[in-house]
Amino acid sequence: MNTKYDFLIVGAGLYGAVFAHEAKKAGKTCLMIDKRNHVAGNIYTEKIEDIQVHKYGAHIFHTSKKDIWAYVNQFTEFNRYINSPLANYHGEIYNLPFNMNTFNKMWGVVTPDEAQAKVEEQRRESYVENPQNLEEQAINLVGPDIYEKLIRGYTEKQWGRPCTEIPAFIIRRLPVRFTYDNNYFNDPYQGIPIGGYTAMIERMIEGIEVKLNTDYLVEKEKWDSMADKVVYTGPVDAYFDYQFGVLEYRSLRFETEVLDIPNYQGNAVVNYTDSETPYTRIIEHKHFEFGQQPKTVISREYSAEWKLGDERYYPINDDKNNKLHEQYKALADTQSKVIFGGRLGEYKYYDMDQVVEVALQKVQEVLGHK
Ligand code: FAD
Ligand code: UDP
Repeated sequence: MNTKYDFLIVGAGLYGAVFAHEAKKAGKTCLMIDKRNHVAGNIYTEKIEDIQVHKYGAHIFHTSKKDIWAYVNQFTEFNRYINSPLANYHGEIYNLPFNMNTFNKMWGVVTPDEAQAKVEEQRRESYVENPQNLEEQAINLVGPDIYEKLIRGYTEKQWGRPCTEIPAFIIRRLPVRFTYDNNYFNDPYQGIPIGGYTAMIERMIEGIEVKLNTDYLVEKEKWDSMADKVVYTGPVDAYFDYQFGVLEYRSLRFETEVLDIPNYQGNAVVNYTDSETPYTRIIEHKHFEFGQQPKTVISREYSAEWKLGDERYYPINDDKNNKLHEQYKALADTQSKVIFGGRLGEYKYYDMDQVVEVALQKVQEVLGHK
């Protein structure tokens, strides 16, 4: 137990795995610990009925960066999955993101010109100068019909608040297209690791000592004494004992079920965009990998209020929490022995490709390669 390591890596998620891989490659020694009973953090996948189940929510890898794509392809092969979620509004099915298929189903329009004219007409009726909230922003973007059927219910369930109280910027992420293209993302590279994300992480951390079921904060001093540097990917406020207050998150709850049928909904992701259905979406995991198994596994996803002790999912990057985070960040910057990284360590809504990128930058900087 007295071994001196170059790096103690707290958290076996994607950030920790990239960091550990690069450090080891450069000849450094690493010890990795995680309080969970498995590696891979939130991208953990587990086989049920021979189907890779995304235990902490559906994860699709997508990136616009060729170097990041090449980097992850060292550890796994990706399949040809393209995310094309459907919206179910009281049994009516629409394609997402908002594209010609959506407009055709909504209004019967066929050509891009017709669709554009229809969207213009809708927007003209209720246009608001300087939209102050998500409702105003969404209506400016696509008009009241789409807002009512495909945005309002889903968003209010997801954030637990009326759209008039949600910041406008959240909806700007959604593409609006005048082509018949159901690809949810604009990025040129996309897919799901064949064999699951857990296997990808295992390959990254091959040869690295890992201790699971180990909470760093319980015996912080002991762990600190074992390494020259600590890479901490847990929540930054917890590291400092919540001395300025608690950073807030939005949580999720999953109800996962094995069904004795081969195909439940015919698509990996179906969003329920009405207000009455209590869950936001149903994930049918086998369709992420074009599975032909005799059974299927589905997860109903419910959005949930978060309180300390619950699983952290989405950071709430509103003004109040961002200000609080600035205080923690200033304190974190004074800890010369500790690197704070990743979604929890930096309190940022990072996608996986961004996590890979920032972890690579950081490890190169620390190893003196940049
Ligand atoms: P994590 O995966 O959270 O890893 C941190 C690890 O630290 C955890 O394993 C935790 O147990 C451990 N830890 C924390 N505290 C301690 C402690 N005190 N002691 C020991 N260990 C500790 N990104 C995409 O690119 N595409 C998607 O489709 C996508 N979908 C998502 C869907 C959902 C519902 C969510 C919430 C996120 C999604 N993301 C997606 C983002 C993606 O999950 C993150 O970018 C990624 O998981 C972050 O990796 P990380 O290593 O920073 O954090
Ligand atoms: N959104 C919506 N209807 C949908 C899907 C998304 O109104 O069917 C809106 C909603 O406001 C959501 C935002 O778009 O918060 C971003 O959606 P995304 O699917 O990117 O969220 P994530 O997958 O990150 O939870």
